[in-house]
Amino acid sequence: MDELTELQLEELRDDLHLLLGKLKQQLQESLDLTQPVDLDQQAVGRVSRVDAIQQQEMAKASRQQDRQQLARVQLAMKALEQGEFGYCENCGESIGFARLKVRPDTPLCISCQTASE
Ligand SMILES: [Zn+2]
Repeated sequence: MDELTELQLEELRDDLHLLLGKLKQQLQESLDLTQPVDLDQQAVGRVSRVDAIQQQEMAKASRQQDRQQLARVQLAMKALEQGEFGYCENCGESIGFARLKVRPDTPLCISCQTASE
């Protein structure tokens, strides 16, 4: 796999910044959804309470994913600053621009990713 050019690094830096902003916004917006469900029987029926609890579980799961991705994005940005961005953390090979363009926060090259699944 080819090393990244300066131009490609610039582009991926922008992508990471956008992704970081998007994740922070998502985490902010989903905060309300994970507040404890109001179990007041007067206010909501049994069915909608179950719905509310399910929604809350889903919101928690997606927040968990967002937080994990946020951490990966921050690691990638740090690596970028240190000139170590774009290398597989498992085998050390260059990950490749096409793959990073789709998943700029990925720490693994395609073969290591495939092997880990
Ligand atoms: Zn690898």
